[in-house]
Amino acid sequence: MADPSRFQDPHHTLAVFTDDIWVVCPACGGCAHILPQPVGQADGGTPFATQASPQESSQESPQESLKALTPSQNHAPSLNPTTSTRRGLDVFAPRRLICGRCAHHQDWQGDLVRWGDAQDCYFGLPLWLQTAVAGHTLWAYNLRHLSLIEAFVAAPLRSRRPDAAGWHNRSVISRLPRWMQTAQHRPAILRAIARLQQR
Ligand SMILES: [Zn+2]
Repeated sequence: MADPSRFQDPHHTLAVFTDDIWVVCPACGGCAHILPQPVGQADGGTPFATQASPQESSQESPQESLKALTPSQNHAPSLNPTTSTRRGLDVFAPRRLICGRCAHHQDWQGDLVRWGDAQDCYFGLPLWLQTAVAGHTLWAYNLRHLSLIEAFVAAPLRSRRPDAAGWHNRSVISRLPRWMQTAQHRPAILRAIARLQQR
């Protein structure tokens, strides 16, 4: 980034972060991960993304393989504009929840995802990365998502702001609630993010 003081919205939608969603395990309360499953490996095979760090490493082969496996028909339901695809990442690819603490796992397959606050879009489980700030809930799907929010909140200069009519696209940043955009809450939000990063 040329100027670290100026935040540039990368226009990531929430779908970008569905490659690894951290949730509260419904069995033990620990941190479980919801990961995309390659088609044909929903029979108990090891999900390909378990070896990937929460960082960018999961951006390559899993998505490429999903892209290759995506049906060629143009009417694939995953192309619905409300559930964007990016670089071959298919929001509707089968998902598996896996808990590293108790080994609980469960699978998801379907054609409907629900984008809700502070819960994952597949199982509707509470997100692992969430905390109360200034009477609101700050939440993120994973550490990359949290880092993006942090960069926005911390930056003294931002490349875009809401106008009187509100935001005009679906990027994660453009959809941040107003309380997260005010300087008044900046210190509290950054402290909360730091707490979540240590969780
Ligand atoms: Zn568990």
